[in-house]
Amino acid sequence: MIKKLMAANWKMHKTLREATQNARELVVAIGKNLPPDREVILIPSFTALHGVGEMVAGQEGYFLGAQNFYPAKEGAFTGEISPDQLKDAGCVYALVGHSERRHVLGETDDFLAQKVSFGLEKKLKIIFCVGEKISERKQEQVEEVLTRQLEKGLEKIHKNVSALDLVIAYEPVWAIGTGETAVSEDIVQAHSFIRTKLMDILEQGKQTRILYGGSVKPDNCSSIIGLDNVDGVLVGGASLKADSFSRIVQA
Ligand code: PEP
Repeated sequence: MIKKLMAANWKMHKTLREATQNARELVVAIGKNLPPDREVILIPSFTALHGVGEMVAGQEGYFLGAQNFYPAKEGAFTGEISPDQLKDAGCVYALVGHSERRHVLGETDDFLAQKVSFGLEKKLKIIFCVGEKISERKQEQVEEVLTRQLEKGLEKIHKNVSALDLVIAYEPVWAIGTGETAVSEDIVQAHSFIRTKLMDILEQGKQTRILYGGSVKPDNCSSIIGLDNVDGVLVGGASLKADSFSRIVQA
């Protein structure tokens, strides 16, 4: 069974102690009630990877993820981190193309394509984020933007990549951290468009998971996760507290 992914992106929040405690509280809060069709991915800052990894080690259905990496084995890349270093810290997943990397840090489609292919080559499972800005939605360019981001971002990978190794996250930029969630109709439309594109691009595009991200909360998660082609959620703000994220995971 390909499971739904419930991913927590803690961004640049939490010290090692805070992150470790939050992970411990989450495991306790969920207890034996992790739905059998779901997996939890915790994505803390680099400094907390090892500590959070220790909290979830041996817990069935929990995985560690990284927020970023540089597409090279090693070398003179001051301030960067490699897939091998992340795997050494216990990471199974890594985010690529989060809107904050695209629009705040200026990462381009070409650079993101390098990251997707290098990360997969190095055996990280990649969560590749796509999504339009509000100006692009207003100009009815959603499909154009998603097409460009998917075609460019996935252009360097093997078409037979396993559906277990590559995940897409649809995150409309205007819904991230704003409290504004896309309405069901927008989510269904975008996910269905992404599904069609994935089926064009990848042999296993039909099974490739598509997560929704953008102001997911405990009270809207169950309606979002039940929508067609929604195979999990990527959560920022509401994943920072164990109580709220445990309710999302079980929604
Ligand atoms: C995110 O960071 O990927 C995200 C979706 O954030 P939020 O849930 O706070 O909108």
